[in-house]
Amino acid sequence: MNPPRYYDAHCHYSNLKKHYDGFVIAAVSMDSSSSLETLSLRSESILAGVGIHPWKVHEEKLELVSSMVDKADFIGEVGLDYRFAKAPKELQSNYFNFFAQKASETGKLINVHALDAWRDAFNVLTRAGVKRAIFHWYSGPEDLLKDIQGAGYYITVNPSITFQQKHKRVVEKAPLDIIITESDGGYEYRGKLLEPTDIPAVIPLLAKLKGVNEDELLRVIESNFKKAYQL
Ligand SMILES: [Zn+2]
Repeated sequence: MNPPRYYDAHCHYSNLKKHYDGFVIAAVSMDSSSSLETLSLRSESILAGVGIHPWKVHEEKLELVSSMVDKADFIGEVGLDYRFAKAPKELQSNYFNFFAQKASETGKLINVHALDAWRDAFNVLTRAGVKRAIFHWYSGPEDLLKDIQGAGYYITVNPSITFQQKHKRVVEKAPLDIIITESDGGYEYRGKLLEPTDIPAVIPLLAKLKGVNEDELLRVIESNFKKAYQL
């Protein structure tokens, strides 16, 4: 087995279940059944997250997943989605506040989905006193980046940066010390199944955008990942 070179801070690993040599993967979950499965896949290179995704809030109860938090390495994928979720904002907010509180009490990292809800999600986290959080596939407002940095939180960069202009623009503005790579693997986007192996191809572009060489970029990403997940 090769030593890890790439870090995937947000992957739906239970949909993939392959071995990815040279990768460390943070495996997020969508609901109680995928949370159970993710916990069973935990290994030296797979960190397990449990949670209820905002798209699942309308059909999932908190109790089951709540009881799994102690066994997990982190909490996620949880958050708010003002564009695609079926659950009303208030119910989403109840669930997300619950998980933010859990993250605060346990000191575990929280892996956050916040589509069209970036500022609200940030406020929930800081009010709950959350110390470590990742805003996944960040395409939110540029002026929130300094607050994310100030709170000690991180954002992830998705391989879609090669064609998604909005994502590219915010990543250009983001300080390097809050950036981690992700694949959102196991999720299909524009007809393509995303995988951790999409990450290496992004490194040259990301290095260019941030004005560092690729080795330096990989070093910083590794360090950010380890700080975020306390490895
Ligand atoms: Zn995801």
